[in-house]
Amino acid sequence: MLAVHGHFYQPERRDPFSGEVAPQPAASPYRDWNARIDAECYKPNAERGNLQHISYDLGPTLACWLAANDASTHKGFVDSDVSAAIVEVDCGNAMAQAYHHAILPLASLADRRTEIRWGLRDFELRFDRRPTGIWLPETAVDLPTLRILADEGVHYTILAPWQAADSRLDTRRPYRVELGGGKTIVVVFYDAALSASASFESDATMNADAFARERILPRLTGPSFADGTPRMAVIATDGELYGHHQKFRDLFLARLVNPGVDAPDRGFDITTIGQIVGSTPASVFPATQIAERTSWSCHHGVLRWYAECPDAADGRWKGPLRVALERLASAIDTVASGLAGDFMEPAALWQARDDYVEVVFGAETAESFARRWVPLGNESQREGFLALMQAERWRLAMFASDGWFWGDPIRLETKQVLLCAARAVRLIDDAAGTDLERRLVDDLSLFSSPSRRIDGAGIYTEALDEAHQPALRPRSKAASTR
Ligand SMILES: [Zn+2]
Repeated sequence: MLAVHGHFYQPERRDPFSGEVAPQPAASPYRDWNARIDAECYKPNAERGNLQHISYDLGPTLACWLAANDASTHKGFVDSDVSAAIVEVDCGNAMAQAYHHAILPLASLADRRTEIRWGLRDFELRFDRRPTGIWLPETAVDLPTLRILADEGVHYTILAPWQAADSRLDTRRPYRVELGGGKTIVVVFYDAALSASASFESDATMNADAFARERILPRLTGPSFADGTPRMAVIATDGELYGHHQKFRDLFLARLVNPGVDAPDRGFDITTIGQIVGSTPASVFPATQIAERTSWSCHHGVLRWYAECPDAADGRWKGPLRVALERLASAIDTVASGLAGDFMEPAALWQARDDYVEVVFGAETAESFARRWVPLGNESQREGFLALMQAERWRLAMFASDGWFWGDPIRLETKQVLLCAARAVRLIDDAAGTDLERRLVDDLSLFSSPSRRIDGAGIYTEALDEAHQPALRPRSKAASTR
């Protein structure tokens, strides 16, 4: 059996102040990167029916853009989840994704929960079923994250083979991971060699029939496992590989997963992750253990997103950037819960934050949400409450992994997380009369771009300028007297 999984994701590209995606000339001839990748990948894969034959996760930030800008492709993703061939919805093709694509092993417990709950709820609203599987951003994993998944009713996830504690683990079958307290989760480890050749060897993927014969079949030949489980191979890659990173590879995918009746018998069947593990109890699978704080795109654990991972020519900026944003997040949370104390129980603010995905998705109006959570408050308290929710929303968004992924904080991905931070901190400073923004800018000045003589504070100013926002407002009276 062969299962192909595509991880479809783009970060939130909307300017958090205007709600618009700024034109991105580098994406020419398209208006912006989302539009270009849509034309090269999302749309053709949906139109060719490829999604009906693979597993996929569609990131909420991308799904939101697709719904607004290419409704027919969005519908293609939604409709391909459960097709006529699939009777049990537990076996649907689509998996959820943690909401803002933050590296969960680096996040606080409360943030992990919110990101996971938002991702599951977004999926439920979009696909009209409760998801059984979730894709962890960058497949970054540890046991506390898996425990939250199990608590939230998630049945399975996908990891890279080097994320198994046992380096000789046979990835041709699913496993269960014991999480303590009687909880378990199913883990499918993808096939490293097949996934790498699909991703990086353009010659290997010229001809799907040859790829099936020469690469896949040898992995699947031989007897079933002793307990009768047939051998499977899982190819997991970025979904953008099929048409965007590699031109015409959407055609390769079509031929690979839906060869048609004229194709020669390949000696194996096409299936999906959902079909393999969707409704099978975890206890059926053999137990294994994971290597904690590991991921699929950094071979140094999760260093890539907070420190000097050896893959980066100069990663000295990554640590101070993360510390600056963590310090800001912590201050925002403290100020927000202080303000919320006027109209709600302290713990309720965080329950409300978990629930705020209803408003972000558009399933509920902000007014109705505020009336539900602050029923006894007056108008201005409800407005204040909504400002806190918006601040929390953008403060969560500022941890999107993209901000740390690349080699230089001057890139637009890092500027985007800085704009999210700016939006969040200004909402809080306006509401509380604090001056957290000045402290943020001080902290950002502690690192520099390796390619340009500009520090993080300068990059922050540049990002605000490009978004037509004032740089750093004058020190407020309230704050200077503190
Ligand atoms: Zn690395």
